[in-house]
Amino acid sequence: MATTKRDYYEVLGVGRSASEDAIRKAYRKLAFQFHPDRNREPGAAERFKEAQEAYETLADGDKRALYDRYGHLASERGFSNGGGFAGFGIEDIFESFFGAAAGTGRRGRVQRGADLRTDVTLTLEEAVFGAEKEISYPKHEVCGHCTGRGIEPGSEPVVCPRCNGTGELRRAQQSIFGQMVNVSMCDRCRGEGTLVQDPCRECRGQGSVRATKTLRVNIPAGIDDNSQIRLSNEGEPGPRGGPPGHLYLVIHVQSHRYFRRQGNDLLVELPINIAQAALGDELEIESLDGPVQVKVAPGTQSGRMVRVRGKGVPYLREQGRGDLQIRLKVSTPTDLTPTQRELLEKLAETFDGVGPHEDKGLFEKFKDAIIG
Ligand SMILES: [Zn+2]
Ligand SMILES: [Zn+2]
Repeated sequence: MATTKRDYYEVLGVGRSASEDAIRKAYRKLAFQFHPDRNREPGAAERFKEAQEAYETLADGDKRALYDRYGHLASERGFSNGGGFAGFGIEDIFESFFGAAAGTGRRGRVQRGADLRTDVTLTLEEAVFGAEKEISYPKHEVCGHCTGRGIEPGSEPVVCPRCNGTGELRRAQQSIFGQMVNVSMCDRCRGEGTLVQDPCRECRGQGSVRATKTLRVNIPAGIDDNSQIRLSNEGEPGPRGGPPGHLYLVIHVQSHRYFRRQGNDLLVELPINIAQAALGDELEIESLDGPVQVKVAPGTQSGRMVRVRGKGVPYLREQGRGDLQIRLKVSTPTDLTPTQRELLEKLAETFDGVGPHEDKGLFEKFKDAIIG
């Protein structure tokens, strides 16, 4: 409400005839005193906002003149053109004093380009050991013909005739309080203040063209399925020369015929025959990085795990690797030759009916349980 608002001159602590310089100095002092980055006391943020608002009006000759005439009423009826200082950090305040003048309207506002994502498919070997991959993805690139300005080289933008280059439209209205001025963004130039009469022929005035970007990317060893890699500044270019967005690579790891990943371990199944299981054996298998010796202990049961240390997946953020876990699977022969059958029959005669004695205890308990 207009009545609860403090007078802008009072907020800045300057007289009504204060010079532009005095207003700037007063605001600067308050901004440093109450900026939320520096001052966390209750009420500081409000004081900062109040000073911002007062400065925004009093630093602008036109706005100040209106304020002098109509007070807060003037600013409440218009002036909200999307500009101002809201959300600016302390560096931006510096910039507005020592760099370019603080703009109102859309001119000079910096916007970041959009982020992009693309999928990358890896084999398990590539995910385990890392790889250099070439990726191609569609993105907009700054138009080379007009260097992103959107204007055909040789021509220059012209001052918008509708707003005379101010980017805003002012309409005087009669109200019970007297004459009011309503300020809105110019609809012809959309607040730019200029019009492009000869847009770039290559990009049709967009300032960017669609292209296929190709990058070589180093995929770190140990990366897992569904993880993301961020490539800074490889996204869409920022509008009006703003910083580009990022590119996110989403990693997909294909399943392997033999090896399966579980955390940082690799799992593999190794079939052995009944003779190897009973008598024990020493085997060599091919792991993802070279041959590995596997010792099968005599009397191995199906499902027994053998662990080979340090032959798994490298840790992404630290030294070392997980393990290779080999699951021994005893396969029962199905197509016996007559000789094998004879030998097995002979072998069977030597057993006392139940099977390997290790299981006998369990079988007896089971039988007892049934018979009661
Ligand atoms: Zn162009
Ligand atoms: Zn205009």
